[in-house]
Amino acid sequence: MSNTQAMSPIGKLEGKVAIVTGGASGIGEATARLFAQHGARAVVIVDIQVEKGQSVAKSIGSQLCSYVNCDVTEEEQVKAAVDWTVTTYGRLDIMFSNAGTISNTEQTILDLDLPKYDRLMQINARGMAICVKQAARKMIEHGIQGAIVCTSSVAATMGGLNFTDYIMSKNAVLGLMRSSSVQLGKYGIRVNCVSPSAVVTPLAGIMGLGTAVDVENIIGPFTSLKGDALTTTHVAKVVLFLASDDSAFVTGHNMVVDGGLISLPFLKTE
Ligand code: NAD
Repeated sequence: MSNTQAMSPIGKLEGKVAIVTGGASGIGEATARLFAQHGARAVVIVDIQVEKGQSVAKSIGSQLCSYVNCDVTEEEQVKAAVDWTVTTYGRLDIMFSNAGTISNTEQTILDLDLPKYDRLMQINARGMAICVKQAARKMIEHGIQGAIVCTSSVAATMGGLNFTDYIMSKNAVLGLMRSSSVQLGKYGIRVNCVSPSAVVTPLAGIMGLGTAVDVENIIGPFTSLKGDALTTTHVAKVVLFLASDDSAFVTGHNMVVDGGLISLPFLKTE
C-alpha cells in the first residue's frame, strides 16, 4: 500500500445510494456534500427548490449527485423519486428524511392559526411519514438492510413559548421514528432521528436565528459547551454516523446535537 493510500480517509458510505430530502439547502445540503465525500455511489437530492437543488447537485458532481424535484407531501411524487433512484442507481441504502418548514407565526395555543398548522403538519409530519414509508417499502422489496434518518429537533424535547405547531410536528417525527424502528427491525432496517438545536439556515432565520451572532446571543447562554457554535456540518457528521455502518446496532434512537443545551422552554425570540 502506498503512503497516499495509507493516509486516505476511509469512506464510510462506499458504494451506497442515498436520498436526501431538503438537500437544496441548509442541513440537507451539508449532508449531501458529506455523503458524497464519504464515497457514496450516488446522492439524490429531493427538494422543491429547483434552481438551488440543481446547483448543489452540479457542484457535487453530475456523475455522483442528481436533483429530483419532488414535494414530500405528495406520496406519488415521493414514490416516483424513490423508483427513479433505484432504476437509475440500482438500489437505495439510505433515506435522510430531512425536508421541513416552520410557520412564521409566533402563535401560542390561544391563537393557533389552523390553516398554517395544517400546511406545516403536511410537510413536517405527513411528508416525513411518506418518505419513511416509501423508502422502507423499496428497501424491503430489494432486500436492502438500509438506514433511515429523520430530522426532528431539540425543540421536541421541550415545551415552547411559541412555535406550537412546529414543536408538535417535531414530536410527531419522534413518534414516527420510534414506531417505524420497531416495525422495520425485522427487515434489518434501522430508523433514527437527528435532533439539532439552532443552526444558521434559511429556516432558522424565520425563528430570528438567521446569523451566527443571533444563535450565540440567544442560544449561547444556555449551552453548556462553550467555544463552538453548531454548524450544518456538525449535524451532517451525526447523520453520517447514523446512516453508516458505524451505527450498525443503533435503531430507535433520537440523537440530540445541541452542545448540552440545558432544559429551557423552547425559545421566544423577540
Ligand atoms: P432549510 O430551509 O435550509 O432547508 C429545508 C429544505 O426543505 C429546503 O431546501 C426546502 O426547500 C425543503 N422543503 C421544504 N418543504 C418541502 C417539501 N414540501 N418538499 C420537499 N422539500 C421541501 O432549513 P434547515 O434548517 O436545513 O432544515 C432542515 C431540517 O432541519 C428541517 O426538518 C428543520 O425542521 C430541521 N431543524 C432545523 C434547525 C435549525 O436551527 N436550522 C434545528 C432543528 C431542526
